[in-house]
Amino acid sequence: MTLLAERTKLIKPSVTLAIAAKAGKLRAEGIDVVNFSAGEPDFDTPEHIKAAAVEALRKGMTKYTDVKGIEPLREAICEKYRREHDLAYRKEDVLVSCGAKHSLYNVLQAVVNPGDEVVIPAPYWVSYSDMALLAGGVPKLIPSNEASGFRIKPEQLQAALTPRTRVFLLNSPCNPTGATYSRDELLGIVGVLEKHNCLILADDIYEKIVYDGFQVHNIVTLCPNLRERTIIVNGVSKTYAMTGWRIGYALGPSDLIAAAGKIQSQSTSNPTSIAQAAALEAIRGKQDEVTVMAREFQKRRDVIVDKLNAIDGITCRKPEGAFYVFPNIGRLLGKTGLGKKLSSPCDLADYLLEEAKVAGVPGEDFGSNEHIRFSYATSLQDIEKGCARIREAVLKLS
Ligand SMILES: *Cc1c(COP(=O)(O)O)cnc(C)c1O
Repeated sequence: MTLLAERTKLIKPSVTLAIAAKAGKLRAEGIDVVNFSAGEPDFDTPEHIKAAAVEALRKGMTKYTDVKGIEPLREAICEKYRREHDLAYRKEDVLVSCGAKHSLYNVLQAVVNPGDEVVIPAPYWVSYSDMALLAGGVPKLIPSNEASGFRIKPEQLQAALTPRTRVFLLNSPCNPTGATYSRDELLGIVGVLEKHNCLILADDIYEKIVYDGFQVHNIVTLCPNLRERTIIVNGVSKTYAMTGWRIGYALGPSDLIAAAGKIQSQSTSNPTSIAQAAALEAIRGKQDEVTVMAREFQKRRDVIVDKLNAIDGITCRKPEGAFYVFPNIGRLLGKTGLGKKLSSPCDLADYLLEEAKVAGVPGEDFGSNEHIRFSYATSLQDIEKGCARIREAVLKLS
């Protein structure tokens, strides 16, 4: 097709979805595939949240809302940040969008000029770099690995920031590594950011999914000086098992939020009215299910980490948060499986899907050439079965 815009050539479709499609095809053929590729909780949305949506529907909440989201929802978000992070935001400082992905997209469109650098610690969530590219920006990656717990050092950040840096993107707990910054580590990062005039985009979508009592700290609470140039992004997808409802939000200085809202006003307008009513109940209502889900994820994390580390050739760091492990499979590369040499995580992911019928997402899309991402947002039974199959398949490599 020759009539496509240049920007469509800048980016690639998500590998995650490609793997999911391949796994789906195998399953349609009646093959029992263990799916470790999903990026969403396997739990159902809690009942009281669904009930709020049904109630909104019955009451006729079926019309356009304020582009920025209904006032009670924006107020509930402010109240949450006041209560949990001691931060004072007003409803003018909040933009509700169609998922946190949409929030990130709107913000990047609102702040990145052509050629501006967007600094991203790697491994990183697949969409960051492509969203930066779509905004005309230049993604600049800061590498990290197991040695630093998949966290970047202040010196690395210092070296990456230039006068062209527009945005620094921080995701803690991180997808795909699960790595989470401690208070001291964050203070080190903050120390560098304080001296450099760039925007900070904090993707806090996994803040409630942390283990062993790990404390998640908000960058603005730690350093109120950064408030005027920080945008916090969060949403209900991961915390409340609401991925399909598509509600996320951004909090920040009102001029920035208004600019992102202007972008939204000319694209999607408001996020779905009844989904906003559900999100309001999620954020304002009882929170006990959040704890139950996190506890369950922790059990699964412990099992998957142990099982993977018991496989010769795989080493897996125990993550502090989110629901992914990011095992190092570097020692398996160069081996041969099903008559083919495995030279990349992508080759290994293909091999595991074909030989073991286990779906994982190869590291390349997250900025790694020696890892694969397995999601443990699936049953303990599947985790045991999947790991046993991976073990068998790895033993067959020569
Ligand atoms: C899932 C995810 C998002 C987006 O979630 P939405 O469903 O769009 O709210 C954003 N950032 C990270 C790191 C994620 O894993």
